[in-house]
Amino acid sequence: MTTASRSTSARGAAEPAPAPRATARSAARLAKRIAAGEPALGRARRVGRMLRTLAATHPDAHCELDFTTPLELAVATVLSAQSTDKMVNSVTPALFRRYRSALDYAQADRAELEEMIHSTGFFRNKAGSLIGLGAAVVEKHDGELPRTLEELVALPGIGRKTANVILGNAFDVPGITVDTHFGRLVRRWGWTEEEDPVKVEHAIGALVPKRDWTMVSHYVIFHGRRVCHARKPACGACSLSADCPTFGAGPTDPIAASALLKGPSRAHLLEIVGIPDDDAPAPVGREDADAP
Ligand code: SF4
Repeated sequence: MTTASRSTSARGAAEPAPAPRATARSAARLAKRIAAGEPALGRARRVGRMLRTLAATHPDAHCELDFTTPLELAVATVLSAQSTDKMVNSVTPALFRRYRSALDYAQADRAELEEMIHSTGFFRNKAGSLIGLGAAVVEKHDGELPRTLEELVALPGIGRKTANVILGNAFDVPGITVDTHFGRLVRRWGWTEEEDPVKVEHAIGALVPKRDWTMVSHYVIFHGRRVCHARKPACGACSLSADCPTFGAGPTDPIAASALLKGPSRAHLLEIVGIPDDDAPAPVGREDADAP
């Protein structure tokens, strides 16, 4: 496969050249360079390249929790702890019809609320958080969700991760969301070695322009869910492989790796790495197998 040329589709339209591929040797060289202390400029350029590739790989990246108001997003994010977005999205339509305001949550019948959110897990704790959240928003913020990190993290059930999700997606205030996928991937890519989520947030904030903070969170989380799985990453079908020091953590054979790609945009993920859809075997496993 040529990596630098452009190809022409059957319809005659020009298509972007497939993303360059790594080899075991190029990945080992990159890993060695990172271990020796990658120069800041080199890391910034590599991160910039990876961001552009991520944007092309996941043009549909977005917050996968369904919501129409900041309060709904706050509630959905509280429910997403130890659950999947898909599970949360299955309970929130009825929940949002029943509880429309912070006051509704503050005055909720606890048993009824627990029943409605039962399937998301940890329902007793979550019900307590939602009732406390509603009460605090009513008492301290006149029923409106506040717009600053400091005020948001002071609310029951809202940690820094949740606050950044709300800021970035409901208020258009740039925020980096460090969830399990995000931390795992940025360490795997050698963007940072930090383990503590707040330190990870600051390290990535220093590498990525502020205007891109919300989108980088979506791109990285999308890549973690669809390509770079925790247990078996699809290295041979990954658009980032040329800049990834961990290439080889999963199957490097393109066809074997393509079976590991997940999600509704699988055809696009194959196209961007130049693997013909006809050659790719059916995907294996459930779509959100790695979801936290
Ligand atoms: S799938 Fe493999 S090559 Fe791609 S980012 Fe993950 S570890 Fe790196």
